[in-house]
Amino acid sequence: MKSMKKYVADTVSSIPPSGIRRFFDLVSQSQGVISLGVGEPDFVTPWHIREACCYSLEKGYTMYTSNQGLLELREEIAAYMYRTIGVRYDPEEEILVTVGVSEAVDLALRALINPGDEVLIPEPSYVCYGPITSLVHGKPVMLKTTAENEFRLTREQLVAGLSPRSKVLVLPYPNNPTGGIMGWQDLADLVDVIVDNDLIVVSDEIYGELTYNGRHVSIASLPGMRERTIVLNGFSKAFAMTGWRIGYACGDGDLIAAMNRIHQYSMLCAPIMSQMAAIEALRHGEHQMREMIQEYDYRRRVIVKGMRDIGLDCFEPRGAFYIFPSIRGTGMKSEEFAERLLMEEKVAVVPGNAFGESGEGFVRCCYAASLNNIEEAIERMGRFVERNRIR
Ligand code: PLP
Repeated sequence: MKSMKKYVADTVSSIPPSGIRRFFDLVSQSQGVISLGVGEPDFVTPWHIREACCYSLEKGYTMYTSNQGLLELREEIAAYMYRTIGVRYDPEEEILVTVGVSEAVDLALRALINPGDEVLIPEPSYVCYGPITSLVHGKPVMLKTTAENEFRLTREQLVAGLSPRSKVLVLPYPNNPTGGIMGWQDLADLVDVIVDNDLIVVSDEIYGELTYNGRHVSIASLPGMRERTIVLNGFSKAFAMTGWRIGYACGDGDLIAAMNRIHQYSMLCAPIMSQMAAIEALRHGEHQMREMIQEYDYRRRVIVKGMRDIGLDCFEPRGAFYIFPSIRGTGMKSEEFAERLLMEEKVAVVPGNAFGESGEGFVRCCYAASLNNIEEAIERMGRFVERNRIR
């Protein structure tokens, strides 16, 4: 047998490959590239967290844990959630430790969606929600947000996407790729629509720590929303722990139990060494996390000014570590801009349309890169934009 392509399930063949991945294949073929592409901290996981992992290995902690995750970790997560978003969760029943937020998104949507159910997803947004919805025979309904409103989801945009099959609203804020956030009032404007239409909110708050002018607000903290929200968070971004593959979900006990029913068969548990490291991160990681965030904030201000100086329009991102400038002044489509920028000036950015149609006309630049690289990238982009500006 030459290939098994024809045996691949229809649901899998029909989901598109990630636009980000396609682009990185191009990047890996080039030399001397400055990358503002990958959405990953450029810091190594702080040493005390790595040390906690080494120590746990030395002690011989190499086994499975309970499916739900170590109780000690769930207790730390419960305390952290209360500290940061002001919502109490019972570590025994309302918290599930997962293999990254990626697994948590997968479990939440699998636990909620029946075939034909609709999942409302603000766009542009991180690439996984639509394909996961399709894999469970749900229907992704994209809610197009706009740069004029800093890519916040408005009540009108939400209402426009509703149908009798609407079941879940994904809220991915602070947002990848735009850096947009939803403040208390933005969220409050959605609440009665969510309640009146009996929607469940899957709130991906992986960038919750990474906000720059004021603290992140979780929709779970608004009156009446805790019981219909599942909050997803993890360690990849705030604690620079992408490779550890560890995250969690907090919410209603019955939904957490349903997610755990899938998790116990598909994943069994998150790796114990990562769970041990995560306990250390929550107990003693605050100081170094704040230092990393301060550094991102500085780079954010440098890149916002740099983009504006070279004539690329952008709003000031107030969360995550991305900036999403408009490239309309060049008359190019996002993919052409990103490909030519890579070939001609060796700077990698991600075309905005990788995050949905409404990302067309923009590119995503990740400023979790060294200041030197950011400054050099801006200079190169400046040359590129100047050569290609519509006059
Ligand atoms: N959610 C968002 C919004 C992301 O940007 C990412 C990764 O870039 C993830 C989830 C995946 O996170 P994890 O590494 O915890 O699986």
